[in-house]
Amino acid sequence: MNLPNCPKCNSEYTYEDGTNYICPECAHEWNEEEQIESTEFVVKDANGNILSDGDTVSVIKDLKVKGSSQALKQGTKVKNIRLVDGDHNIDCKIDGFGAMQLKSEFVKKI
Ligand SMILES: [Zn+2]
Repeated sequence: MNLPNCPKCNSEYTYEDGTNYICPECAHEWNEEEQIESTEFVVKDANGNILSDGDTVSVIKDLKVKGSSQALKQGTKVKNIRLVDGDHNIDCKIDGFGAMQLKSEFVKKI
């Protein structure tokens, strides 16, 4: 049985505990299903196109921005995106707003 490396610290000394895997080096615990999900980590835009780090996208609808009185306008170009795992799965910098996170369902690849 070949156990997967720890997804956090890449340790190979992981062991199995019931349905969980445990890393003795950083104490990270995860289960097999989460592991499969994270290896197939895919971010798609509003049209279902797969996005990659470094892509340029445009915003498909006006979006409210937390902590800003301005809204992010539909059609705003966002260069050099970085994909992250989470609810807001795009990390980016936008002129006039600075660093922020977007949801991939509100952008399209251009
Ligand atoms: Zn670890």
